[in-house]
Parts: sequence; structure tokens; C-alpha cells
Amino acid sequence: MGKDGHLLEMRNLRTSFFTHVGEVKAVDGVSLYIDRGETLGVVGESGSGKSVTMLSAMGLLPETGRVIGGEILFSERSLARLREREMETVRGNEIGMIFQDPMTSLNPVFTIGNQITETLIKHKRVTKAEANRKAVEILASVMIPSPEKRISQYPHEFSGGMRQRVMIAMAICCDPCLLIADEPTTALDVTIQAQILELMKELSRGRETSVILITHDLGVVAGMCDRVNVMYAGQIAESGAVRDIFHRPRHPYTLGLLKSVPNPNRIQKERLAPIKGHPPDLLKPPKGCAFAARCEYAMKICLASRPPSFEIGDGHNAACFLNHPDAPRVSM
Ligand code: SF4
Repeated sequence: MGKDGHLLEMRNLRTSFFTHVGEVKAVDGVSLYIDRGETLGVVGESGSGKSVTMLSAMGLLPETGRVIGGEILFSERSLARLREREMETVRGNEIGMIFQDPMTSLNPVFTIGNQITETLIKHKRVTKAEANRKAVEILASVMIPSPEKRISQYPHEFSGGMRQRVMIAMAICCDPCLLIADEPTTALDVTIQAQILELMKELSRGRETSVILITHDLGVVAGMCDRVNVMYAGQIAESGAVRDIFHRPRHPYTLGLLKSVPNPNRIQKERLAPIKGHPPDLLKPPKGCAFAARCEYAMKICLASRPPSFEIGDGHNAACFLNHPDAPRVSM
């Protein structure tokens, strides 16, 4: 647990990539947490730092990436201070990760059974026979038909949806208390997407596993999550319970995201409004609010200083000067 009893907590996390053209500040002061049994959504456009934040926690950054500041606390341990061997026992065993594209995450030259049993033997120290039995059980739990037969097949013999089920099976086979799913349904069609999300929901309920769901899809967040963190340009723009973020957004970026997705409940047929402009260049992040260049409410102070996170109440926070008590009232 983190210092306040959270299962995972990040405090002021900063991660940069050191490239030949300079330092890219991919994660710039992110603080977030997840409690036991919770499902937390992390949403934002591509490049907003969602995946890099989680890869930082897992110690899986590419060579050019480095955590340069902040704390990552998991079950009372600082993950940044663990040695690689200790981190290996955390990964897979205590934190499972599901990646976006199962074809690049599964090894094409090993059978599905090999890949699941290898994880079980490494982390749970079980015999090959026990690992096999458990692997069949796990494949059945993610609704793979005829698991006794399919365990000896290779990834290319599975459809996209089935491969994603296998990835889920691998991620949960050691009963991790936290599952991080990075855009787990992006590559799938809508029907399979719904099945996979339903499966993840059931598994997290049944096993009381906490889930961090990284997605750009607000519909997925609405259906799956308890709380949500909205990320923009490597920072948390807004965080809170799903109902607050969807019904009472207090950051113009969140509002922009909500206006840019279709809502079947809207009575009037409104045109979808994409957020105009582009995210800032993280090689030279702006001095003030990262969203200022795209924000219709931007004020002088927004260009000069970075907005702090304002507490709106009941776990709802937004990093926008409009929430300052002296700010002009605007209707969002
Ligand atoms: Fe817009 Fe200013 Fe709020 Fe940033 S701080 S989102 S620029 S109003």
C-alpha cells in the first residue's frame, strides 16, 4: 500500500526521454492512486503520457526513458528503489499487464501453453504438471473453448479476440492484485470489444483485482471505471469519480473530450466538436497551462503560470485556473 493505504500511488512522477534532439518531458508531475478492488480509467489523446506513466511504474521504459523524479509506491514499497530482480517478481506476480496488440506481445514461436506455464513456474514455483493444469483452468476462465486442446496451439492459430483473451489469461495467471490494461480493445471490432470488457469486469469483480484501464475511449471508461484521471501533455488535467467527470467537468480539456464523442442520450442532435489545435511539443513545454493554446477560456495568468490542482470536493480535482475562487465565472 502507498502511504495513505492506497494499493498503488504515484506522487509527482516525472519521466523523460533523452533523445538526440533533447529531453522530452513525457510525464511531468503526475500524482494518482488506485485502491484495492477499484477500476481506474486513465484517458487522454495519444502522446498524453498515459502509457509512459504505467511503463514507469512497471520499470519497462525503453532505453532512452528515465524516471527523473517523484515516488511510485506499491504495497508499501517504493518501486523505483527495487532492484531489477525484485521488480521481476512484482511484474507478472503482483502486477499483471495487458498490452494493446497481443500479436506483438505473445511469442509466435512458443505455444500458448508454454507461455502461460513459464510464468506460473517462474513466479509460483509449481511443477510442470501443476502449471499445465492451472493453465487449462485459466484459459477456461477467460472463455477459451476446448482449453485442453488450444493450450498446445500457437498465437497465429487464434483470432484477434481470442489472442486478447490469452493475454488476459497470462496477465491474471499468478493472481496479481493489480492489472494494468493498456488500450486492451483498440485493435478489436466493437462486438469483441464489448465481450473483452465484460470479461475484464467479471474477472476484476470475482477476484477483487484492481484495474487501471488506459484508454482514449470515454465510452469504455463510462462502462468500466469507478474513477478517472484525464491526462494532457504529461500532466493530470482532471481527476474524480466517473459521474463527476462526465456530468460536472471542471477542466476545458475534459469538456472538449466529452463534446468530441457521440452521446446517444443527447436529445438534440448536436454536431460533434473536435478539440481544435494540437498538443504542445514536449521538447519545449509551455511555461503556463499546457492546454492554453487550445483553450477558449485562456486568461493572461494561464500563459504565465502552470495551474495547480484545485480541489473541487469529494475527490474531484482539476488543474485549471477557472476553479480559483477569484476567477471569472464561466459556464462550461
Ligand atoms: Fe484554459 Fe487557463 Fe484553465 Fe488552462 S488554466 S484550461 S488555459 S482556463
